[in-house]
Amino acid sequence: MGKIMIIGAGGVAGVAAHKCCQNSKVFSELIIASRTKSKCDALKADIEARGTSAKITTAQIDANDVLALSALINSEKPDIVLNLALPYQDLTIMDACLNTGVDYVDTANYEPEDTAKFEYKWQWAYREKFKAAGITGLLGSGFDPGVTSVFAAYALKHHFDEIHYIDILDANGGDHGYPFATNFNPEINIREVSAKGSYWENGGWIETEPMEIKREYDFEGIGKRDMYLLHHEEIESLALNIPGIKRIRFFMTFGQSYLTHLKCLENVGMTSIEPIVYEGKEIVPLQFLKAVLPDPASLGPRTKGKTNIGCIFRGFKDGKEKTYYLYNICDHEACYREVGSQAISYTTGVPAMIGAMLVMNGTWKGPGVFNIEEFDPDPFMDALNKWGLPWQEDFCPVLVD
Ligand code: NDP
Repeated sequence: MGKIMIIGAGGVAGVAAHKCCQNSKVFSELIIASRTKSKCDALKADIEARGTSAKITTAQIDANDVLALSALINSEKPDIVLNLALPYQDLTIMDACLNTGVDYVDTANYEPEDTAKFEYKWQWAYREKFKAAGITGLLGSGFDPGVTSVFAAYALKHHFDEIHYIDILDANGGDHGYPFATNFNPEINIREVSAKGSYWENGGWIETEPMEIKREYDFEGIGKRDMYLLHHEEIESLALNIPGIKRIRFFMTFGQSYLTHLKCLENVGMTSIEPIVYEGKEIVPLQFLKAVLPDPASLGPRTKGKTNIGCIFRGFKDGKEKTYYLYNICDHEACYREVGSQAISYTTGVPAMIGAMLVMNGTWKGPGVFNIEEFDPDPFMDALNKWGLPWQEDFCPVLVD
């Protein structure tokens, strides 16, 4: 029994809050704190209308303000802080956790607001500070990173002596009926997909042009889709934590209409993060674009279809070559019926709750900052089956060339 503070009240925070309240034997108290308090209050009302025994309170907070956040944590005394704001807030929230001696969990690695480049170095620099403070920092407890990283730890623990190749495949077969919309925060999503791609091979990064590498794959529950190689954050930590790894790639599916719209927006400068002056006011084109695009939270009632996200592993067991595919299929409409949001937020919010639960109940505890694959994968894998993201295995998958 404990108290969790969720920071943020967007798509992912909404699902995580619902899931914490379904799991009220562990999370008996929840405080939802975010920039816009009315969103926290609306989320509280929605959860309470569905029924929960957890006690929910809300608060306004600017998580960029370390002192204000430290004061809120000190007055609320949560056992754990779950950061579901944006990657820009990771370091200030980690600082507030250090100030107050409270454990920290997030789903996305830090990205400076003025450079579209995400990597772990900023958060890994907190390892010693967290260790000295005796608190746990769990990084990347979403789906990818998160579940995909735990899949890698599980494959290594149970199925391989050495994993040499990992292909992470993220397919969204959902259709929301809009010509163009992003399934999670548009600013973060567009920064991610318009950046150069990269993959890890033989101890170093190989960089590609954006969307340069394309493959087709036939996904169970979805069908054939084009997928494109992207840089993705779990590659960086898995490259360190999976001994003997030779190559890790990440592919995500995109439809032609999405790509054509994105290209057009890029060509006219709407995806730029360089500020421009418009009618005497400085604006960032990408932030303006976010304001005119559909809110990802509004896609829930309209999205039909499934997601299929998982990892194909190749390596050796007992001297024999082996392949193994671990994946989850999630249905957009089922997620909406359960917690009022589509599957992208669901597949991130559920593992965020599970990671927070395992740190809070002491299953995954240790002073320092950890990537999720550094902990024992088994309790997390069991919890996925229990809390709405059951996984499937295939010992003879079609490989990606
Ligand atoms: P949203 O944009 O829907 O929600 C973000 C929330 O954070 C909003 O409620 C926003 O407030 C709040 N917020 C932003 N800035 C601040 C601030 N300074 N102080 C307090 N609150 C703030 O994003 P998502 O829910 O889609 O994504 C949440 C996180 O999950 C992101 O970091 C994203 O990268 C990550 N993610 C991870 C995935 C994974 O698989 N690992 C997949 C998808 C997302 P306001 O309501 O005022 O805008």
